[in-house]
Amino acid sequence: MLKMKDVSKIYRTDTVQTHALRGFSLEVEDGEFVSVTGPSGSGKTTFLNIAGLLEELTSGTYELDGRDISALNDKERSRVRNEKIGFIFQSFNLIPELNVFDNVDVPLRYRGFDAKERERRIMGGLERGGLASRPKHFPSQLSGGPQQRVAIARALAGEPRFLLADEPTGNLDTQMADSVLDLLDEINRSGTTIIMVTHELTLADRARRNLFVRDGEIHHGPPELHFAAAANA
Ligand code: ADP
Repeated sequence: MLKMKDVSKIYRTDTVQTHALRGFSLEVEDGEFVSVTGPSGSGKTTFLNIAGLLEELTSGTYELDGRDISALNDKERSRVRNEKIGFIFQSFNLIPELNVFDNVDVPLRYRGFDAKERERRIMGGLERGGLASRPKHFPSQLSGGPQQRVAIARALAGEPRFLLADEPTGNLDTQMADSVLDLLDEINRSGTTIIMVTHELTLADRARRNLFVRDGEIHHGPPELHFAAAANA
């Protein structure tokens, strides 16, 4: 379970100070599928990066599976991140020189699994992503939808408890976006907790809980409500 209390994040440069998150409190239970929407620059990616231990918070508390994250050193943070969290990005982040199999293998190599265990995880991930027949393809031989499926397979091969997705369908046409959402839905039903940032309301609606972020603050409830309120303001 993920629990943030009164989290703030301030980015400071020489001349400006940006309050990317303020008073951000949230609990996500095991097995939830939560969408996060909000205008550009509202703090969605910052939230996801803090949740995924890619960035540190400025103040407040963050517990993941009962562990106080701010008490961990860099090495422990990396370990928790690698073991518990899978990431999916808008731009897929595949390595063009590596085939599908080797792309999925990349994060597993950091975790010290032997070759047999890695192969089991890789083929398991590809199977779930519907790519078991294409391990030797290179990213350039696949269209956007299947490329994102490789990225999802790579995340799943880590057998994460939490899947964090930042605009996972932002580079896909509607049909491919739908099929990626179908896959995320299936992954969630088999027990993985998912938090997905998207600005597409139709996709956000497919999550089982919706959060809306504006000016670094969190609002609960259906995103339509908040977009309508913002438009009328
Ligand atoms: P969103 O994902 O909703 O578009 P972000 O979380 O990317 O919003 O950004 C929230 C605010 O924090 C924005 O004002 C953005 O310019 C600022 N910001 C994000 N990352 C950085 C950074 N690394 N350095 C300085 N400011 C940043």
